[in-house]
Amino acid sequence: MRLRSDDTVLVIKGRDRGKQARVQQVFPKDNRVLVEGVNVVSRHVKATAQMRQAGIIQKEVPVQACNVMLICTHCTRPTRVASRVLADGTKARVCKKCQEVIE
Ligand SMILES: [Zn+2]
Repeated sequence: MRLRSDDTVLVIKGRDRGKQARVQQVFPKDNRVLVEGVNVVSRHVKATAQMRQAGIIQKEVPVQACNVMLICTHCTRPTRVASRVLADGTKARVCKKCQEVIE
């Protein structure tokens, strides 16, 4: 998983293609990410003990990580991410377009 929460990503597949939004949560095990305002579905809910009011709620559903591209904070272009081990031994993400480290 090369994405983290608070990353800005570009959606490249699906209904929300072309949208840029912030990653809210990552699910490395499922290789999915929850992106703000992307892949929103309407759910019809019945009144239950917790939810007294029946109706329709709108909710984001996590999308496949391969359907979004990270937007580089340096060159502001959608990019693929490489990982590089820095001099101090920590792993960093590197933009394949401008070679800058992405925080
Ligand atoms: Zn870049």
